Amino acid sequence: MGYIEPAPIKDKENPFESMMSRFNIAAEILGLDDQTYNVLKSPVKQIIVNLPVTLDSGRVEVFEGHRIIHSNILGPSKGGIRYDPNVNIDEIKALAAWMTWKCAVIDIPFGGAKGGIKCNPREMSQGELERLTRAYTQALHSVLGPDSDIPAPDMGTGQQEMAWVMDEYSRAVGMTVNAAVTGKPLVLGGSLGRAEATGRGVMISTLSAMEKLRINPFQARCAIQGFGNVGSWASELLEERGLTICAISDISGAYYNDKGVDIKKAIEYRNGNKGTLEGFNGGERIENDELLLLDVDVLVPAALEDVITKKNADGIKAKLIVEGANGPTSAKADNILVDKGIMAVPDILANAGGVTVSYFEWIQNRLGYKWTSERVNRRSDRILKDAFNNVYNTAILHNVSLRIAAYIVAIDKVAKIYKFRGGY
Ligand code: NAD
Repeated sequence: MGYIEPAPIKDKENPFESMMSRFNIAAEILGLDDQTYNVLKSPVKQIIVNLPVTLDSGRVEVFEGHRIIHSNILGPSKGGIRYDPNVNIDEIKALAAWMTWKCAVIDIPFGGAKGGIKCNPREMSQGELERLTRAYTQALHSVLGPDSDIPAPDMGTGQQEMAWVMDEYSRAVGMTVNAAVTGKPLVLGGSLGRAEATGRGVMISTLSAMEKLRINPFQARCAIQGFGNVGSWASELLEERGLTICAISDISGAYYNDKGVDIKKAIEYRNGNKGTLEGFNGGERIENDELLLLDVDVLVPAALEDVITKKNADGIKAKLIVEGANGPTSAKADNILVDKGIMAVPDILANAGGVTVSYFEWIQNRLGYKWTSERVNRRSDRILKDAFNNVYNTAILHNVSLRIAAYIVAIDKVAKIYKFRGGY
């Protein structure tokens, strides 16, 4: 086995500060003036709503909801809604800013936003979730809209919540507006290709980076953390392109197979096992943290934030990290990876396949038309490949990591458009 004893990895950084530390480096390299710097770093709007919702027991509980619009310089703001007990302003603020940079780096005409409700969706009934979602949408309907701010699913929300948002928003404005939200069920104007979009983008980023590093996919070994939407699609698509996926993991633990885990079997097992890999026998059971330190060519963190930190970064052996998750690498680990010569394709580029196909969903809704999955895939692959090449060339030009280069590309774009649009 190619792994060593893992280091503990609990080293949580403030996500907003983590985002800002990269922003600051890129802003300095770009020579961004003070005024533009202040405009770009400050969220446009931060809204807090208190939502009284009647629970099934008859008791009324007040839930705290947020929507933060970080930027609408490039277009209507775009970003998910998160349902989680740990939702807090700093996290939502960082995620909203990440959406701005993500849309800018892949060159789609959206700004960035994020929303959240402090709640525990796992302990709530369908009826309670529906009332909560409708209350949130009603409270924010003057902010939302296909030309102003377009939500999408995030942690704890999915297509059912998006259907409720679309319906409640449509009631508020008195007409059906399916472009008001993305990530809807297919029958309600969702896009073909959306389910696999983020994993597919991870696959495109991985292959693009491997080409630059001259790693042959048919000789490459890969470990993937997280086997949900992003991780399992990335595993399947990378396996199809010839990579050996030697380890996968989810909340139940990690599973290592030197000859390669059979991904189709793993997906089948998970689907028949209440969504988890618990008890999967297609690989030797190892600890979750060990997966990050395996002797592989490619590592794809696709589960949580802050898993690669200054505590374990030194032990990473992969030559390439492709960030399927949002914020899996702490800012303090960045330099360690750079010093070790590890290429990291940053989250704002690597997992942008999801927002790309959300953009296509919005376009199709506005056209009143449906694209085939071939058209969706072809166009999103092109967007992501072009974005990768642009970031790669910027990294070479400024002699910086792909992460800083992605921020440079994004900030430069938003700053240029801001200067054209002007202010008061
Ligand atoms: P998901 O809920 O479908 O899957 C998460 C997976 O992570 C599950 O398999 C879960 O068991 C696993 N997990 C949880 N804790 C873990 C742990 N300690 N160790 C290993 N695995 C663990 O979520 P998802 O949609 O796949 O999102 C994963 C990440 O990708 C998140 O950071 C999310 O913000 C980001 N992301 C998702 C999308 C998207 O379109 N779904 C788009 C961009 C970014």
